[in-house]
Amino acid sequence: MITLPPFLLALDDRFLQLVHPMAQLNQIASGFTWTEGPVWFGDHDCLLFSDIPSQRVMRWSENEGLSTYRTGTQFNNGNTRDQTGRLIGCRHGTRDVVRTELNGSLTVLASHYAGKRLNSPNDVVVSSDGAIWFTDPTYGIISNFEGYRGDREQEASHVFRLEPATGDLVPVVSDFVQPNGLVFSPDETRLYIAESGSSHDDSVPPVIRQFDVDGTRLIDKGVFATLDCGLPDGMRVDTAGNLWSSAGDGVHCFAPNGSLLGKILVPETVANLCFGGPDGQRLFITASTSVYSTYVDVKGAEPWTQSRSG
Ligand code: MG
Repeated sequence: MITLPPFLLALDDRFLQLVHPMAQLNQIASGFTWTEGPVWFGDHDCLLFSDIPSQRVMRWSENEGLSTYRTGTQFNNGNTRDQTGRLIGCRHGTRDVVRTELNGSLTVLASHYAGKRLNSPNDVVVSSDGAIWFTDPTYGIISNFEGYRGDREQEASHVFRLEPATGDLVPVVSDFVQPNGLVFSPDETRLYIAESGSSHDDSVPPVIRQFDVDGTRLIDKGVFATLDCGLPDGMRVDTAGNLWSSAGDGVHCFAPNGSLLGKILVPETVANLCFGGPDGQRLFITASTSVYSTYVDVKGAEPWTQSRSG
């Protein structure tokens, strides 16, 4: 019988193989307004994350601590990296997806669809073919808290696939109320997308939906899981295919078949998370005003964010 620390809640014995009985939950940074968009830079041993309302992207490293990476971010929300290590970000203020080139300059990759402004791109992933997939809910245009209040021009809150070489932007799913976090299974045969519409409409179930990936298209495979606390926002997968989702009471860990294996209980509402650290087995959790960290016993599945050799 393994006794876990109180912040780890095992609901299935398989969870015991994924966590450390000696682990602690550490608050590594605090004092922010609303943290989101964590992304690990293994080649720099540092974490970047967004503080959306204060329009900052922050940098944290174990040895150098906390610093401001960028100001005036136009309410930058979700972040990821492409295969060459470039930072890809979603900006509410300018309603676009932007790439930071290796020389530090910014390239806007997508700002309009069908001649109309995007809503407010929220979260983004890059598939191994270089395509950029992102969600476009309305959170950044419905108030001035995390964007600029503005008119919705798109008919739906789409999930898009962008071909960066050509600029082709195609909606791949259009029936979400508010699509939010998204993440591929390790083999990229499946894409998981969070529905966070319950933030403003209780009748929307807090579900993670799953889609088979058929080239550039998605095939709806229904609900993967329904959260029993709060709503899903950012998500990551580990190399074994387990899905780790943000939730109202922390981070929920689901098996590849959707079974809830356990929870990491966090004292603030969690918006996103990522794996990082030298061996990809450290979880960084952006939670409201703070960032928390804990060590787990499984690696994250994003090779280009994980390690120097990745
Ligand atoms: Mg989000």
